[in-house]
Amino acid sequence: GPTRDEVIALRHQYVSPGVLTYYQDPLMIVEGNMQYLWDEKGKRYLDGFAGIVTVSVGHCHPTIIEKVQAQTGRLQHTTTIYLHPAIAQFAEKLASKMPEGLTRSYFTNSGSEANEVAILSAREYTGNEPVIALRNGYHGGTSIPMGLTAHGNWKFKSNPQLNVLHTNPGYCYRCPYDLEYPSCDLKCAYDVKNVIQYQSPGEIACFIGEPIQGVGGTVTPPKDFFKVVYEIVRQHGGLCFADEVQGGFGRTGHHYWSHQNYDVVPDGISMAKGIGNGIPLGGFTTSEPISEVMKNRIHFNTFGGNPISMTQGLATLEVIDEQNIQQNALEVGSHLKNRLLELQEKQPLIGEVRGLGLMLGVELVRDRKTKEPANTEAAAVMEECKNRGLIVGKGGLFGNTLRIKPPMCITKEDADFMVECLDEVLN
Ligand code: PMP
Repeated sequence: GPTRDEVIALRHQYVSPGVLTYYQDPLMIVEGNMQYLWDEKGKRYLDGFAGIVTVSVGHCHPTIIEKVQAQTGRLQHTTTIYLHPAIAQFAEKLASKMPEGLTRSYFTNSGSEANEVAILSAREYTGNEPVIALRNGYHGGTSIPMGLTAHGNWKFKSNPQLNVLHTNPGYCYRCPYDLEYPSCDLKCAYDVKNVIQYQSPGEIACFIGEPIQGVGGTVTPPKDFFKVVYEIVRQHGGLCFADEVQGGFGRTGHHYWSHQNYDVVPDGISMAKGIGNGIPLGGFTTSEPISEVMKNRIHFNTFGGNPISMTQGLATLEVIDEQNIQQNALEVGSHLKNRLLELQEKQPLIGEVRGLGLMLGVELVRDRKTKEPANTEAAAVMEECKNRGLIVGKGGLFGNTLRIKPPMCITKEDADFMVECLDEVLN
């Protein structure tokens, strides 16, 4: 294949500049095995970002590869206008992991498309148009999800907002009211009442939120946050959806779905990324009555539900179950979080460590009092980690939160390596 320099030149000439790369000196990856990646020179990296939180159980996982290779050899493609076994088997498996009543799935290729289906379903079902999303949230790059997404840096001037209203995300570290939990009485969660009262006719289609915000920097709201929001939304006729694109499939350790950490039951769940361990696969699962709005309608997704992605999805969910992946996310994740909290005590740049399981965020600040975002520092930390063989992600309102979301097969030794690497770099 082409050399690294040739790849850079070809990309520059032929690939849209909208496709961004991390690092001043972009990293070229040529091989992956479980939690590790290799560049073209044979240097190994611990993948602390799992692609972009996509590779849930490990790169080129042997069990998944075996099943998908068998399917590829037998039938690579047919669309959903014909029957094939894989879609039925995967949908059944997915339903078995869902909260009771959420049994029907619509398959797509991405999280953006899954959220498009979610919003369309809610609007059709309720007959209402206004949708409520959380500030700081990210829901995708197609038109409606870009409207749901709530940060100027991720929006385009020309993209219409399409009747999406935004409410507070429960970002305690940067509380807009300067209050403290729990004496704040969850003022941020109750704000959804004002949003509905002042910006909608009082009846809404739905609320959609990431239980723990991913791109937004692992914002982890307080325990009762979603109970309050869901209740108010339902009082106004809206459905409540959880975007589990990043937080699902056991990543938060304690529960299979990140919303379960908040004791709420959504009316629908959108998924992508980790559900397919790194291939294009997304979906929206909801109840029978809500799913009926799509009945006899021509709403078609050519590649949604194809045999390859269904087989890979099923194999991924089976590996999560059979290889105790969620338990590993809990154990290694708790160990990693404790060690990061210890690191915070000696590294003044660390403002906050947050998240659950293997969905962790480390927010960097120049000054713990003013909480001035250390964004250039975060970029420098990422570069230096890369030089030492560790890949981590970055996100947050100011691009100052390191995102640690590795494949869920990592070991305690890998976690220790991450912490030692960060310690060295921060020194
Ligand atoms: N929802 C969330 C929570 C996401 O993190 C993302 C992707 N970062 C999306 C939706 C959109 O998914 P995709 O890029 O597959 O369209």
